[in-house]
Amino acid sequence: MIPEYALRQKQSLALPGKVRITEVRIREWYDHYQGQICVNVSGRDSLVLLDIVRSLYPRVPAVFSNTGLEFPEIVDFMKNLPNTFIVKPKMHFTEVLRRYGYPVISKEVSRQIHDIRQKEPTADLTKALLLGQLDNKQSRLKDKWLFLLGAPFLISDKCCYYIKKRPVHDFHKQNNLVMMTGILASDSKLRLMNYLQYGCNNFNGKMPCSRPMAFWLHEDVKEYVKQHNLPIPSVYDHYEHTGCMFCCFGMHLEECPNRFQLLKKTHPKQWAYCLDKLGFRQVLDWLHLPYNDCHLFPEIHKNDFEDYVKKANREFKQSAYYKQLMAVTPQSKMTNLLLGLH
Ligand code: SF4
Repeated sequence: MIPEYALRQKQSLALPGKVRITEVRIREWYDHYQGQICVNVSGRDSLVLLDIVRSLYPRVPAVFSNTGLEFPEIVDFMKNLPNTFIVKPKMHFTEVLRRYGYPVISKEVSRQIHDIRQKEPTADLTKALLLGQLDNKQSRLKDKWLFLLGAPFLISDKCCYYIKKRPVHDFHKQNNLVMMTGILASDSKLRLMNYLQYGCNNFNGKMPCSRPMAFWLHEDVKEYVKQHNLPIPSVYDHYEHTGCMFCCFGMHLEECPNRFQLLKKTHPKQWAYCLDKLGFRQVLDWLHLPYNDCHLFPEIHKNDFEDYVKKANREFKQSAYYKQLMAVTPQSKMTNLLLGLH
């Protein structure tokens, strides 16, 4: 395990130092797999990685997953990127939403809600809720997100797997290539934990993966683009982060205008499609997250969401489902669970 201070030290280096370390990691990866490597490209971070990789090894291919959720500017850009393969998911986004559910709050929370709802209320389930021991891989669902168990729509993180990861993994497998990605540890808690556990190059996992820029910060990426005059998709004129147009992960943390409010302005057709054809209007209404022009909802901001969450949790705790969950474990066993005496 890498100590967090070691990451902070690397993150505080100047850009040229970071580029040099990244080059070393790329060489290690390239040599280990005798050049059978490929860069996953999806946006600005990965385009910077591709630029550094190709400055060392110009013939390394790139792969882009055209999920149907990417900004049109990104798709056009990737179509014109040399030596880049474009793959598509086998399952359409609408099908993923229908079968598994909507991606909300965060990957981790969506996964927890999905997994818990899959199970019949049992003592194991209560244990998982309290201690996070469902299938030995779950972290505990935070009390704050309990109310999502009562959402009138499905919630899950499966979308990332079917839409993004699987088409790219299939491509790597078919072509006997190992992947490199431009993800940063500072992007999310999950990515931070991943870096602390495996570092930049994970040679030993089920799916070997190199993240040679993991210790960079968002500002470094922007600085690199500027210094190298690197061409990137024009959508970055309006957006700091792109990702999937219709994803709700992290949206509750955004100030006005949030991503949907911005999307209405920059891509009104896609905005309307997402709300009305994909059903996100119902999801965002239920979550009390705004998607219309800021001036229509000047009163909505982060505190309102927090107040809503508290109220929704109070109500959820009165529901029959919650009572059923809590009733499955006798009080004495519950106490033992809480004390870690299970
Ligand atoms: S980032 Fe969100 S919308 Fe995109 S594939 Fe993952 S879950 Fe789906």
